Amino acid sequence: MISSRVLCIVCPLGCQIEVKEKDGKLSFHGGCARGKSYAKQEVTYPCRMVTTTVSIRGGEIPRLPVRTSRPFPKDRILALMEFLRSFEVEAPVKRGEVLFRNLLGTGIDLIATRTIHRLEKEGEDSREA
Ligand code: SF4
Repeated sequence: MISSRVLCIVCPLGCQIEVKEKDGKLSFHGGCARGKSYAKQEVTYPCRMVTTTVSIRGGEIPRLPVRTSRPFPKDRILALMEFLRSFEVEAPVKRGEVLFRNLLGTGIDLIATRTIHRLEKEGEDSREA
């Protein structure tokens, strides 16, 4: 039998959940139902919400805050950050806008978490085409 502990981060109580594996079957001891579900995810397919910033061209500020639409597979977060390093969007962008679909083939999207207006340059025509 293999045994390990998972610290549940679903709520501030921070319970320790013991996970036992016997004959390929997992059992969970301690914590509530939500905690057990978290522990199962953590030992079988750990994921995290990713929040970061990406470059934005022509915006009021040079970086746009973004997040993933769902928790992202933990073992692929480095690859995601590498992808986002060269990712750039064009202002204007609205909060909640999907900037990229199906990141690295996961079915998870990239979402803007802030509205960024276009920075009007001197002499630039602000009328919509
Ligand atoms: S097991 Fe339940 S009560 Fe404990 S930290 Fe997780 S969600 Fe909170």
